Amino acid sequence: MNNKAPRLLVVDDEDDVCEFVSFVARNIGYEVTSISDSQEFIEQYSHDLNIIIIDLTMPGMDGVELIRYLASVDSKAEIVLMSGFDLSVLYSARGLADSRGLTVKGVLEKPISIDSLERILDRRSKPRVPSSETKKISGPITADELRQAINNKELVNYYQPKIDIPSHFLTSVEALVRWQHPDKGLIMPDDFIALAEEAGLIKDLTSLVLDNALADCGGWKSKGIVIQVAVNISIKTLTDLNFPDQLQKKLIEHKLDPSQLIIEITESAFSDDISHVLDILTRIRMKGIHLSIDDFGTGYSSIQMLHRGPFDELKIDRSFVQHIQTDPNAHVIVETSIDFSKKMNIKSVAEGVETQEIWNSVEKLGCDVAQGYFISPAITAVEIPLWLVAWKQKQLLHCCA
Ligand code: C2E
Ligand code: CA
Ligand code: CA
Repeated sequence: MNNKAPRLLVVDDEDDVCEFVSFVARNIGYEVTSISDSQEFIEQYSHDLNIIIIDLTMPGMDGVELIRYLASVDSKAEIVLMSGFDLSVLYSARGLADSRGLTVKGVLEKPISIDSLERILDRRSKPRVPSSETKKISGPITADELRQAINNKELVNYYQPKIDIPSHFLTSVEALVRWQHPDKGLIMPDDFIALAEEAGLIKDLTSLVLDNALADCGGWKSKGIVIQVAVNISIKTLTDLNFPDQLQKKLIEHKLDPSQLIIEITESAFSDDISHVLDILTRIRMKGIHLSIDDFGTGYSSIQMLHRGPFDELKIDRSFVQHIQTDPNAHVIVETSIDFSKKMNIKSVAEGVETQEIWNSVEKLGCDVAQGYFISPAITAVEIPLWLVAWKQKQLLHCCA
């Protein structure tokens, strides 16, 4: 076991802030260094830092430039941003750090209270993806390798449970594809979906994911677990007018009811040929298959999609849900999305439910379904029945406690 104290660096040109943060952090058990100058920061920066607390406004290099620097050295430290500006500046800096691949532990509004600082520093860090799932890839992936992987069926589906909030019942699972590479380990979809689209392989990939999802759904059904399965499809790839018929054929082959399949549309904008896409989407729904708008709120056309498309589920993007408690703007977006879905009589799903507190918040707003690490990460098909037993036991214990 590693007994070394976690290392924290505080960067602020105000000495009294550095002293205050150092005092609180040392009491919690951190080994603290503080610096007041951005040049010194670059000299002192080391990869073994666990947390870096950065003031956004500093002479020399400001917080935004430090964020850029940390991203350029691929820093793995957790970042805490602080500022005396109004909150929207803090949140947009956090969004920037997020988008540059940094892990933001929290934001602090100046003047800082002991309470808010302790809350952030006490919070145990959560990896973006559970460690059992992640493997770093080494070297770039080529289109040929991916084509072979699809042919050799090296692509496997993992499934993440979606839970009905009022009843706590498992309603469906989302199929999330992974590449079980013989040498490179488990490769995540963000590392090969774009390549599949560019290389013209996405159709074959989708077909494999669908076949596996329907086969697994049939397998669970034979064990008495009747749930829906959701499959991700990028709107860009919705070009084939026969796609709804192909879906129907696959459902019949697997002896599944169309209502057991959910198609999650992952692209935020309609393609140029709206009528073509609407033709396909409408026929999917007419066959009794469910349609979900994924990542709602992230694309400029989300509302247009909702208006024009025949959707019956709206998935609120995890970038809003994750920050619902600390970011008032994110809260408004989640609340408004849930209101939208209610008024349009469609189901709302919050993805990125990472904690009990986030669950409580979306429950209070009247959200229908929750998905996220608080419930379960994506797991293999065989693990689903085992997970379900454990989940039911947990609910029983909870209601009897
Ligand atoms: P998505 O559809 O938004 O899927 C949800 C992603 O969020 C998954 O990442 C999931 O593991 C992650 N996630 C789930 N709960 C939490 C949480 O509580 N906190 C956080 N931070 N993350 C959470 P994953 O599996 O890496 O998938 C990434 C994206 O790849 C998916 O985003 C989807 O757009 C795409 N994708 C996955 N499978 C397929 C597929 O078969 N076809 C296509 N076209 N795209 C796919
Ligand atoms: Ca999805
Ligand atoms: Ca999503």
